[in-house]
Amino acid sequence: MGFLQLEQVSKLYGEFAAVRDFDLEIERGEFISLLGPSGCGKTTTLQMIAGLVTPTNGRITLDGRDITREKPARRGLGVVFQSYALFPHMTVAQNVAFGLEMRKVAKAERDRQVAEILSLVKLTSLADRYPREMSGGQRQRVAIARALVIKPPVLLLDEPLSNLDAKLREEMQFELRRIQRVVGITTIMVTHDQAEALSISDRVVVMEGGKITQVDHPYSLYEHPKNNFISSFVGKSNFLAARAMNEATGVSLRVDNTDLKIPATGSYPGGELCLSVRPEKIRLTDPAGAMLHGPVSSRYFLGNHWLLSVSTPAGEISVAVANLGAPPPSEGDITGLTWNIEECRVLAAEQESALQ
Ligand code: ATP
Repeated sequence: MGFLQLEQVSKLYGEFAAVRDFDLEIERGEFISLLGPSGCGKTTTLQMIAGLVTPTNGRITLDGRDITREKPARRGLGVVFQSYALFPHMTVAQNVAFGLEMRKVAKAERDRQVAEILSLVKLTSLADRYPREMSGGQRQRVAIARALVIKPPVLLLDEPLSNLDAKLREEMQFELRRIQRVVGITTIMVTHDQAEALSISDRVVVMEGGKITQVDHPYSLYEHPKNNFISSFVGKSNFLAARAMNEATGVSLRVDNTDLKIPATGSYPGGELCLSVRPEKIRLTDPAGAMLHGPVSSRYFLGNHWLLSVSTPAGEISVAVANLGAPPPSEGDITGLTWNIEECRVLAAEQESALQ
């Protein structure tokens, strides 16, 4: 049994299911991200764990205790919202001490614990500042310190970094992970940013329309997405129409009257299929003998790599080319494209039209 467990948890608003049959076992000390597009039910799930929303069906247990209908205060979980919700008239130290005061912890012990946690989030020197005198990233650390100081069994984070600019956000992602590791606290974070979810989580839960579509370690999720929705939502992908020639020997990609044989890596449903190929898996080659070829229709320099779009009989194909010195072909140049066939995914075609 997981440390935190959700069994068949649903939340209905009238006929509408914001979350449906959510099943997940979370181990002690795990960092889990709930990832998905706006409205997929991430926040509702987090709020059901926090006790701010009551599930319509299902059961939530924490360390074996049924907390499904327990009041938020009794659960004692740490919650950090997007807005941080710091008390503006209190200093950093007072903000962090607040939860301990509520729990009637004696002053000397309170001071000790506040000092310890401020050191953990690297805010010792700013203990006497007010929130308005701090940057977004610093305020964010105060909010985390305030949630952690009461030593909650679980930390819940709702889009905690979304108010920060791109660079600070990236720094705070690693900082958040560092703090989580030091404390060893079981953490669940809501985000709609796939890079954020991949970079800091032990496991990512992808949601769509109130349901879980895949739960996996970041690398497996990226390399083995279950369907086209995940393939395009987690990273970028090219989708190529394909069809099964022979289920035993594999599928064949029909492009411009040429069949490219793709060896079987599993059993495929009959009929129309789709191949998902990541832009960074594609290599530029001589057009003769390449899997596909065509003119470069656009080329952008992005610092560590170039992003090319190539017009092929199979459609526009995006290719990410590492910046290793010489620039890749220019717009209008004809180039060949090739990739290791083991590195593309075979997916059911109907999911593509339904989910893209
Ligand atoms: P976002 O990333 O935009 O915050 P989310 O994935 O967190 O989205 P939720 O806030 O969990 O999504 O909402 C899931 C769905 O439930 C949405 O369609 C939302 O409109 C609906 N919903 C949420 N709260 C209520 C409510 N109190 N009454 C009716 N519908 C609600």
